[in-house]
Amino acid sequence: MVEALNNNFAKIITRMDDMMKIIKKWDVIIIVLLVLISFIPYGIFIYGESSNNGEVYAIISVDGKEQQRIRLDNNTTPKEFTVNTKDGYNIIKVEGNKIGVIDADCPDKICTLPGLVNRSGERVVCLPHKVVIEIRGSKNTEDKEDFISR
Ligand SMILES: [Zn+2]
Repeated sequence: MVEALNNNFAKIITRMDDMMKIIKKWDVIIIVLLVLISFIPYGIFIYGESSNNGEVYAIISVDGKEQQRIRLDNNTTPKEFTVNTKDGYNIIKVEGNKIGVIDADCPDKICTLPGLVNRSGERVVCLPHKVVIEIRGSKNTEDKEDFISR
């Protein structure tokens, strides 16, 4: 009689053990799911960043020849540099996702008037020096800006 009770007790204990194992298994699955879910907003954030700003760049050309190409995004290191042409110089400033001519020795100084620009399709032109800064973006960016301006 006592032995039978002990046997039953042992069976109950074994079942509880199994139950605990199942619960622990689910715990692990739930924890893994939670960790995965917590990464989703981060993934969307990264994707959004790259599709908005990834492909915007400025092309600086002198007399129709491309001199340099600068990627413009918020991580671009601010810098100033001089573009020398046979007719004179233009000091170009890059700040964040913006670029522009801040000084030049051309007679009209029209190139300094737009200030810093950052929209794809915008151009800064110095006619006397034949210097052109043109901003180009990925198709995504252009579509987005069209959408906003409408
Ligand atoms: Zn100019």
